[in-house]
Amino acid sequence: MSELIYADNAATTALAPEALEAMMPYLTSEYANASQLYPFSRKARKAVENARAQIAACIGAAPEEILFTSCGTESNNWVLKSIALHPQKPQNVVTSCMEHHAILNTCKRIEQYGRLVRYLSVSKQAVVDAQELERTLNSDIEFGLVSLMFANNEVGSIQPIQELCTIVHRHHAFFHTDAVQAVGHLPLDVHELGVDFLSASAHKFNGPKGIGFLYKKREIELSPHLDGGSQEYGMRAGTENVAAIVGMAKALALNCARMKRVTEHLAFLEDLLLSLLREKRVHYVRNGASVHTPGNISLSFPGAEGEVLLHRLALNGICVSTGSACDSKRTQLSHVLQAMNMSEEQALGTIRISLGAHNTEEEVRILASTLHHILR
Ligand code: PLP
Repeated sequence: MSELIYADNAATTALAPEALEAMMPYLTSEYANASQLYPFSRKARKAVENARAQIAACIGAAPEEILFTSCGTESNNWVLKSIALHPQKPQNVVTSCMEHHAILNTCKRIEQYGRLVRYLSVSKQAVVDAQELERTLNSDIEFGLVSLMFANNEVGSIQPIQELCTIVHRHHAFFHTDAVQAVGHLPLDVHELGVDFLSASAHKFNGPKGIGFLYKKREIELSPHLDGGSQEYGMRAGTENVAAIVGMAKALALNCARMKRVTEHLAFLEDLLLSLLREKRVHYVRNGASVHTPGNISLSFPGAEGEVLLHRLALNGICVSTGSACDSKRTQLSHVLQAMNMSEEQALGTIRISLGAHNTEEEVRILASTLHHILR
């Protein structure tokens, strides 16, 4: 048994050893600037382009449709601000109330600049209603961009992205999905989905922190995000983080290759945890939709306080989360649970256990008995 039981994989994941190994040469001997012209740069440049192709292949895109960013937050900011605050053709935006703050706070900024943002409600299972989207787009207001998350970070609910995207395109708007919780965990093909933009972040799929990417459909123009050199097709200047890019591609390729096996493992652990809790007569409510990201288990314990549970579990060496990771220092109710119309009492008694590929049966048994012990 390892000392720490890490069950907060929706917040971040452990770096895959294979990804670290792939990164090492670019952190040591192959330190050349990928954009220089001498032979010493060739290996770094080739590594960046191979990584781009590898990532593209994992999501059914073309290599030139992948743009490297520093994280999911940056990818989201880039798309939303570039389209909504376009100097000649600014656009109104539709999103949902349960998006990550990387979207919601970007929308607040867009509103400050005079654009209109409509926030769709969500069901009790944290799923967006396609009919509400249709009604919103049918209104007199013109919306140029719809941004809806692929899978919710707090409760794991997966959205009907293909259906939502078809509606959006019928109304001649662009569709962006924040797929930070989905990429590397769910089978995903951008052409099948039809999305115009997709955001992803390496540290959520066993890659390094500080690197992410944006998928942008080839034929769509997006304003440059960082002005400067000609990196990333002149759209995001700044010397390439070669090691992180290589690590991200390696981690994503590995996760995609192992996805079926890991998904089965996580389904087994999930069932085990819930059946152990039932056996021990721990009263809980499972939140979110039945179609959810593997291993994401949001549980409410009537009469309990999620934050107290979190700290008691932490004292036992177990890491879980209340609300989303970025919220864990705030005591206010999670906006996602509120959007799901959850009572204040239930929301306060909610924790998110997010299991990952490395979690074992033994760890889940310890987690269940520790939870039982604390709640008793
Ligand atoms: N979007 C979602 C759905 C997330 O869960 C997160 C992180 O928790 C982000 C965006 C932000 O990603 P990053 O940490 O790479 O900025």
